[in-house]
This record gives sequence, C-alpha cells and structure tokens, in this order.
Amino acid sequence: MTTHHDGRPPGRETGRAGAGNTASPAAATTSTERSDAAGVDGLIAELSVQDKVLLLTGADSWRTQGADALGLRPMITSDGPAGVRGVLLDERHPSSCLPCPSALGATWDTGLVGELAAALGAEARSKDVDVLLAPTINLMRTPLGGRGFECFSEDPVLTAGLGVAFVRGVQRAGVAATVKHFVGNDSETQRWTYDARIAEQVLRELYLAPFEACVRQAGVALVMAAYNKVNGVPMTEHARLLRDVLKDEWGFDGVVTSDWHAARSTAATALAALDLAMPGPDGPWGAQLAQAVADGAVTPEVLDDKVARLLRLAARVGAVLPRGDDPPRPPRAPFARADLRPAVADGAGFAAPRPPAVSTVSVLEASSDRGNTIFVDQGLLRRATAASLVLLRNELGALPVDPATVSRVAVIGPNAVRPAIHGGGSAVVAPVTVSTPAVALVEALAGQAEVTVAEGCQTWVMVPEPAAGSLRDPDTGAPGMRLEFRASDGALLAAEHRTSTALTWWDQVPPGIGWGEAGKIVLLTAFRPDSGGPHVLGAGGVGHLTLTVDGAVVADGATVVPDDPVEAMTRPGEIRAMVTLEAGREAQIRLEYTPAADGEGPLAVRLGIVPAADDDDLLAQAVWAAGQADAAVVVVGSAEMTESEGFDRDTLALPGRQDELVRRVAAVNARTVVVVNAGMPVLMPWAAQVAALLYAWLPGQAMGEALADVLFGRAEPGGRLPVTLPAREADCPVLHAVPRDGLITYDEGLLIGYRGYDARLSRPQFPFGHGLGYTTWAYESLRATTTDLTAGDDLGLTVTVRNTGSRPGREVVQAYLAGPPGGSGGVPRPVRELAAFGIAAAEPGAAAEVTLQVPARAFAWWDEETDGWLWPPGQFTVHVGRSSRDLRLAVPIRSQARPSR
Ligand code: BGC
Repeated sequence: MTTHHDGRPPGRETGRAGAGNTASPAAATTSTERSDAAGVDGLIAELSVQDKVLLLTGADSWRTQGADALGLRPMITSDGPAGVRGVLLDERHPSSCLPCPSALGATWDTGLVGELAAALGAEARSKDVDVLLAPTINLMRTPLGGRGFECFSEDPVLTAGLGVAFVRGVQRAGVAATVKHFVGNDSETQRWTYDARIAEQVLRELYLAPFEACVRQAGVALVMAAYNKVNGVPMTEHARLLRDVLKDEWGFDGVVTSDWHAARSTAATALAALDLAMPGPDGPWGAQLAQAVADGAVTPEVLDDKVARLLRLAARVGAVLPRGDDPPRPPRAPFARADLRPAVADGAGFAAPRPPAVSTVSVLEASSDRGNTIFVDQGLLRRATAASLVLLRNELGALPVDPATVSRVAVIGPNAVRPAIHGGGSAVVAPVTVSTPAVALVEALAGQAEVTVAEGCQTWVMVPEPAAGSLRDPDTGAPGMRLEFRASDGALLAAEHRTSTALTWWDQVPPGIGWGEAGKIVLLTAFRPDSGGPHVLGAGGVGHLTLTVDGAVVADGATVVPDDPVEAMTRPGEIRAMVTLEAGREAQIRLEYTPAADGEGPLAVRLGIVPAADDDDLLAQAVWAAGQADAAVVVVGSAEMTESEGFDRDTLALPGRQDELVRRVAAVNARTVVVVNAGMPVLMPWAAQVAALLYAWLPGQAMGEALADVLFGRAEPGGRLPVTLPAREADCPVLHAVPRDGLITYDEGLLIGYRGYDARLSRPQFPFGHGLGYTTWAYESLRATTTDLTAGDDLGLTVTVRNTGSRPGREVVQAYLAGPPGGSGGVPRPVRELAAFGIAAAEPGAAAEVTLQVPARAFAWWDEETDGWLWPPGQFTVHVGRSSRDLRLAVPIRSQARPSR
C-alpha cells in the first residue's frame, strides 16, 4: 500500500500549515458548537488580551485557569507514566501503580499497553484528571540515564509503537495524553540547562520519530517541551522544532505545554509556539506577555492561536461548560480519531492507520473511603507484570518450579522484602497496595513448602520507612502518626492523621509553611520496635530538622538545597541518629522540619527507622538459608533511590554487596533463581553461575503475585528486552551522558543501543529483543508482499512460527531491516534496525502466523542536503527472528525509485 498518493517522488516532504483557527464568523452558544473551530473563534473574540494571557499560564501546580465568562473550568493535569497520581501524593488517595514504562517496553505488546493505558485513563477520569502527563517517549540513549525506566526502549520503532498504543488508550478514556519530553531529554545531569548537540538526521531518525508517530498516528493532545536545549536553543524557545516541524510539518493541532518551570523567557517562548506555561500562577508570561503583544513583539494572531489550542483541548476533555440556556453539560466522550483531525494527508512514510485494537477496560470499584476512584484492575496489573518479566537464562529447566518438588525454599535479597516497585521523581505514586516477593512467595507456597526469608544485605540510601504496624498516633492511638502544621510562634495551624512517614506537598500546605517561611511541619509518633538493640533513625528534608526521642534531641541540623528542585522530593538530605531501643517498648518520636529559606520544588519530609544490621551477618544468614533449601530465589536490584528523575546513576553495578550475595548463594544452591528488580540495565557478572535469571524491571504494585505466577508456571514470562544488557560498562555505545561545558554531543549518531553493539561487533551480555519464555519456537517461513519494493511503499510480511515445546507460549516476532552497505550523508548506518514486531501465541505443536507491516519510512533516511526523507534505491534484507542477535529467516528486498508519471 502506498503512502504517497500525489505522484510526487517520496524523499521530500512538504510542510503543511498548522491547524490554527480559521476566521469564520462565530455565534457559538452550546458547548458542542463551541468545540468546533467556529465556536473557538467565537470564544476568543470575547476575550481581552489580559484574559487571554491569564489562560496561558497555570493556575497552580496542576491546574489551568478557568474562565467563568466562557464557561471554561480549570483543567487538571497529573503525572504520569506509571500511574495517575492526581494533585496529591498521599497514601489516603492512592493510585494504581503500573509496571514502569521499561517493563511495558518489555511486553512488546501494543494491545496490552493500550488496554492498560485505557484503564489508566479511566482511573484518571475518576480522579477528575483531564490531562495525563504521559507517556515519556524519550529513548534510552545511555543505560545510566536516571529516567531510563520512564522510557519504553532504546529503539525508536518499539517506542513509537508502544507510545501510539498508550496515547490511544488514554485518549479513548476521554483523557488527554501528553508526550514528553520534546526532545533530547535523554539524561538528567544538568537537565535544566544542558545543550544536546544532535545532527538533524539523528534527530529525525531516532529521537523525533516517536513524537512524530504519536502526533500523526495517535493524534496526541499535548506535547511537553523539555528543559534542555537542542543545538543551542532551549526547547521551550525552539521555533524550528516546535513551530516548523511539530506544528507546521507534522500538523500538530494540540497544545505545547512547557515542562514544569521550563518556560524562562517571554517573547521567545511565545514566538516558538509554546502554548501553555506550567505551573502557575507565576511565570514569564502573564502581564509580560500582554506587554509583548502591546509592543508588537508578539502578534495578536500568535496569541489567539495558543488560546484556540487551549480551548480545543478544553472542549475535547469536556471542560467547556454550558452557559445560559445551553443544554446540560455533555459527558466526556472518548477521543475519537475523527475528533482529532487527520494530522497529515499522506502518512509521510508511516504505515496506513489501523483502527485501534478493541479492548475492554477492566475496572475495580473503589472502596467507599477512596471516593469514586476506579482503580486499574489488580488482575490486569498482575497479567501485564508477568508479560513484562524477561526470562534471560534457564538452565536444566530450573524454571518453572513445580511446588510439589520443593519442600524448602529460601527467598533472599534486599528487594525480596523491600522491592523497588517504581522509580523516583514525578512518576511516583502512592500505591493502592504492594505485593512484595517475600509475602507473595510465602503465600504461594503455604502448606506446600517451608519458606525462609533473608534480606542478605542492605542497599537503602535513605533510612527506610518504619515497618507497617510499628507506629501509633500518640493522640488517637490509631496506627500511624500525627502530623501538625505550626506557625512560627508555635500556634497549631492544622493537624491530621497519616500512615505514611514519607510526605510530599505541592500546593496544599497552610499559609506560613513552605520555602522561606518560618512555620514548621511536625511529625509525632510512638514507635514500638520488634527487636531490641540499636536502631538507625533518619529525618529527611531540605531545610532544618530536629529529631527527638522520648524528649531528648538525638539529631539536629540543616541539609543543603539541591541543584535540581525535584531532589527535594527524590533524595533530600538526611540527618541520622543511632538509638538503642527496647523490644516492645514504645519510644515517643518527634520530628520538626522547617523548610529551607531558598528551597524550591515540592516540599517533602520523611522519617525513617530501621534496626541497625551488619551486612556480614545478613550475608551469612542468607547463605545458610540457601544451603538448607531445595531452591533459592534471590531478588536483587535497585534500591528506592537508585533510579530517579533529577540525577543519573554513576555506575551500572548493583548497589551494596548484592553481587557477593548472589555468588555466595549460587555457590551453595544449584537451583538459584535470580530476579533482577531494576528499571534499566545493571551488570550481572555472576549470570553464568546461576540456574535461572529473570529481569523484573520496576514492576509496580502487582510485583510479588506476578512473580509467583511466573516462578510456579501459572504464567509465561512473556517479556523480551527493550534495551541491551551489557556485559561490561566499557561495552556500552554511550555510557556517561555528563555534559562537558554544558554540552552533550550525540557523537555516536545513529549507533545507540543494539545498533552500537552491532557496529562494533561487540557481544552484549543479553541482546536487545532477547527473552526465552517457557517454550521453544521454530521459524518456519517468511513471505514478503513483494521483493521489488517501490520507494515510499509499505512492505507486508507473513511469518509462520511453530511452538516446538511442551507448554503453550507467546512469541515476539521481530523484523530487522539491513540497508544497502555504506553510509548516509557521512553518518554511518546501523547494521540493521528494528522495522516491525508482532506477537504470536500457540499451543504446543501448533503453528501461528504473524503478519507484520514494515512502514515505508523504515526504508528511508533523512537527507540533510535536501532536508527531507530520501528513499535510497538498492538491496535491503529483512531478517526475522527472536532477538537482534538471533535471526532465523531472511528475505532480500530491492528498493527502487518510484517511476515518474
Ligand atoms: C518532569 C515532568 C513532569 C513535571 C510535573 C517535571 O520535573 O520533568 O516529566 O511531568 O515535572 O511533575
């Protein structure tokens, strides 16, 4: 099927005017009418310049401004990519915690991701959220990238496919999705200022590609402009990328929002086609933007286009309310493709749009104390988590474990008891529930095998929150603590009961409390230790902290203000004390916190208490337990603050003594199964010494249950790697992404991830696309719709695979395209690139046929000279297989120029 209908040769795409408002007379009276272009024009005509600029800056951290006169209510935005937090991060208003995006990447399953996203959208709606600040569709350029867990993959085609499915799912639920962070936000160090130097070809073929797909194929409602610069220009001021490429060329008709506080100029951001400055109410627009319009620096048309976009968004999410004699407010309707207007006529090399997969949203009615929240169904989370687990190694059928064959199982590792279910930063949610591996495995084996749990070693960075059930509110006696807000003179401003001791606020603290204020936040609790002896107490927060135990001050001091405001929440400074406590005797704890004078970002304070432990003892206990057991399950990985927004990791090694733990356990137990709980690659120097190895990502709240399903064979470990796992740091095509003199130079060009390993002929520990599952597959045949492809056409493939094992299974069929030898415009081409993927499922012995569509764009490269896509004629090869390094079948394809008419 051709994607070019106008007879012009593919290779040069023409720009297309942005979908700005047209000047038609307006007499809008109903909300329905106001949602069309004419209605929007009518509304705009009613507004003064002051009214307009007011709308274009947020009202607070998460809300946009409303306008009563227009019947426009504020729209509520919320993070994010692994769960919808709402405007509060508060255990009393929890959110479903989904598998992190790299886990979703590991499913390679657009249908499943769409289903989850639709359920996430339903939860968002039930929380009155209009705009979800997700998905993150940056690429995993470096495995050390702090936010890599928030991305789907190192590959643009996989990222684009899942991004499109995610956006469609969320928007089907009537909630606007936001693709972020546009663009070049691929690492965190100095993220507010660094300048990513990226060649146009590399931008087009890698980093812009998922954004383009989400605009053209999914009609995404918002795009978030990143903090960083690209080629010298801050992204919120990037007229070429925001206006010329995103809006004019791709036809994006939605809203460009700034990343939070990323808009730092008035006219430059306005002219570059930023539409909304978030958060508010302060910022560089407002009166300054009105002045810029008065001065002629910004034209009224530019301003009106922004307002039109915002009002169209409001209409889409049902935020334009009826006025006067209007009919009652219409319910929010799912975003239909038709609402979104085809962004581009010719598809520009993408596969022709297909109807979105039909799915039913599974929902769980919330209990009454959680209002009307419609949480994502736990069964769906559990199924999706199992589908994301990647079985990397399985010697002698170590997995699945038949519970009947084991009488003693050791469950070992810091992440068995304290798993990292999500990464840090704006993606954090307060989960509805947490299924830990230790509890889930004990439950799964109840009555069948004796289970010993051993932590093995400690990896925490900030002192962990005290164990559930160990705290009591001194005032009411209820489990948890009393939280007080006190004015500078000590007067009580407000008090509440909380059960979490890690607290974060954006807007909701009483006046007199906050950065630069003298008021205090006070945490009061009675702690009853399970065991006697020394305990470590930690108080975290940016500002002054005083920690008192039974009336005596045990720690007092100020912490430093971090460079990145998000660190006030993700890893604030901490003061600690070591206190000896008596088992079963309550200690009265008081923590007083005064936020720093010059702090910024969310306010956060945290109390941690943990029995002091010695790693040598913990290791010895774990090894002893493993030695007694028939099988050892060792859950290692990132600690709570290893992977986060706001900073990059500085090593791929597992934190603490976990490598030693795995080696020592494997030495005493031949049936050692290691589960890695990390959102991004870690080094696993012991991989060849263990019987089985599962990669579990940051799997969300269903972790333990899903893990038990997979370990005991009730579910297939369906995942395939969305990112290459290196054997050594030195092998990574891009390792550190630390700016030098403020610059990050993307010198590797197109060769990130597996493309870099292929170019260097180096062997990763586990290649991109790898994953065993519980059955085996034969690749029987590969047919292409043609072997002589006309440039600009898509290519259809049919692959037949057969389940040759003894269990039903699921296979991810991957098609890679190898182009004609040589470079393109001096930039070395990858050896091969992922071009399409699909899923087969079959019973033992049965065959399954998978049809794949390789979009025309896969055969094109960006030509810097003509500033357009070029379809080079020549010999391509399509390889089909199980991973980027396990290619089973191939078909040669000759690409030739389209004959001119
Ligand atoms: C992050 C965004 C996020 C926003 C709001 C920023 O710091 O980069 O991803 O959506 O904060 O939390």
